Amino acid sequence: MAITQYTFGNPVTRYPDITPPEQHQDGPGVEHAQSSAPDVGEDSYVGSGRLTGRKALITGGDSGIGAAVAIAFAREGADVAISYLASEQEDADRTIRLIEAAGRKAVALPGDITDAARCRDLVAQAVEQLGGLDILVNNAGKQQFAEHLLDISDEQFAETYETNVFAMFWITKAALPHLAPGSTIINTSSIQGYTPSPLLVDYASTKAAINTFSKALAQQLAPEGIRVNVVAPGPIWTPLQTAGGQPPSALPTTGEETALGRWGQPAELAPAYVFLASPESSFVVGETLHVDGGMPNP
Ligand code: NAD
Ligand code: MG
Repeated sequence: MAITQYTFGNPVTRYPDITPPEQHQDGPGVEHAQSSAPDVGEDSYVGSGRLTGRKALITGGDSGIGAAVAIAFAREGADVAISYLASEQEDADRTIRLIEAAGRKAVALPGDITDAARCRDLVAQAVEQLGGLDILVNNAGKQQFAEHLLDISDEQFAETYETNVFAMFWITKAALPHLAPGSTIINTSSIQGYTPSPLLVDYASTKAAINTFSKALAQQLAPEGIRVNVVAPGPIWTPLQTAGGQPPSALPTTGEETALGRWGQPAELAPAYVFLASPESSFVVGETLHVDGGMPNP
């Protein structure tokens, strides 16, 4: 029988050991350039109608965690729009194909979200082409390691904040007038927001900002019937990690710091997003769901 997200087994050995060799690609990176393909749930995620009829926009939905979420949402019955950079068209095409294979509508929205006008436009296009919107997943992210503060250019600092924090603000603000009660917003934070690496001063601080932004907004919007929550992944095998997210020399041993002692795969994140998007989490508000293989944090 094929393995699914419901298959019982030891989480330590759920996946074959990938121990990636040192490698680098220029940002934002694509899956096929990784030494082994990330598992985005293509062959494993089974839906059961948990998001029937919903309409979702997922930023960074082409690859990695966003792709796994897009595939899961479609198999749970949602129509899905994904945003991504034009250079990632190959990953986007794969995800679009899988959304459509699930029998759902797919909307492809290439464009750079460090531009406020582009953020507003992509929300407008998603709403128009999906015929509404009731799930927003702010998942796109930029992560570039730097050994020292003096190595972080002003441009990198600005782009990291624009991609991770400003775009979340612009996109959420543009989406809000379209979100009816029952709608859900899920933002992607990180273990880095809790236990920051010295190599990720800019990135880690954006993830703390995402957490606090989400907890404040969750309280503001709950009375309107809109729930805001967060997923905080640990080390997950995605293009971002091999495109300057950390030094190539760190890749072979990444994941050993988790209690499970391994990399996580994007497919292991999808059920957390499905739970927070669905009405089954109706009393969960302003929560951060940690999916990190066991790295104790508050
Ligand atoms: P990924 O590279 O597959 O996804 C990141 C996506 O962000 C890209 O696919 C790209 O489409 C999008 N993006 C980046 N800059 C953009 C821009 N200027 N305009 C439009 N889109 C842009 O990697 P991932 O690891 O799946 O990342 C998804 C989220 O998960 C990110 O927010 C990341 O910070 C977070 N995260 C990842 C890890 C990990 O270990 N991989 C850990 C914690 C948090
Ligand atoms: Mg990508």
